[in-house]
Amino acid sequence: MLNIILMGPPGAGKGTQATRIIDEFGIPHISTGDIFRENIAKGTPLGLQAKAIIERGDLVPDDLTIGLVKDRLCKDDCAKGYLLDGFPRTIAQAEALKKMGPEIGRPVTLVVDITVPDEVLVERIAGRRVCPKCGASYNVNSMKPKVEGICDRCGAELIQRKDDNPESFKVRLENYYAQTQPLVDFYKEEGIYHHFDGMIGFQKVSEGISSLLQANK
Ligand code: AMP
Repeated sequence: MLNIILMGPPGAGKGTQATRIIDEFGIPHISTGDIFRENIAKGTPLGLQAKAIIERGDLVPDDLTIGLVKDRLCKDDCAKGYLLDGFPRTIAQAEALKKMGPEIGRPVTLVVDITVPDEVLVERIAGRRVCPKCGASYNVNSMKPKVEGICDRCGAELIQRKDDNPESFKVRLENYYAQTQPLVDFYKEEGIYHHFDGMIGFQKVSEGISSLLQANK
């Protein structure tokens, strides 16, 4: 069963790999960041609560985030597996998932962590453009769309995320090292942790993840 967590600092390539994985394995992509951004765009109560926090690069409180992930994992499409991207980001979230997964019959089976040195992350985030409609990621230097400014997958106009600025990025990276990186040891202890070096190139990382998933489906 492919009940997967995709981990890594902002800019490591999670979103790009996620798009590939869901296309190959036909499991739903659950990105908490995408869910928050949709709520912000629609002006829902959750969006209003999360907007300022996200724009400055901080983490949305655990109770809000855990609740929305639980609701999403209970949906029927997750019965065939799921890809969590951007959750958990704190030990409290990981503990909550460890409890809720077996309760709802959908425990996490694999953790895929992609790492890249900080100086590369800074460059990637500065050049990142995203599709507000389907969530696909591009880069003005290294991963250009076929037509400038337009999403290859769905034709929507690409944007720069509000939190992809140097100040918010610094906060996001600090939060990553302080709050999210401790999850590496958490999942190593669970025996389900797999590391990929994001510097070997998108294609090689993708092939490595694909073999791991094929062997575990
Ligand atoms: P991402 O698209 O994964 O980079 O997430 C964008 C932003 O959404 C993060 O910088 C946080 O502010 C918020 N966010 C996403 N996932 C979580 C989470 N699991 N816990 C807390 N905040 C989150």
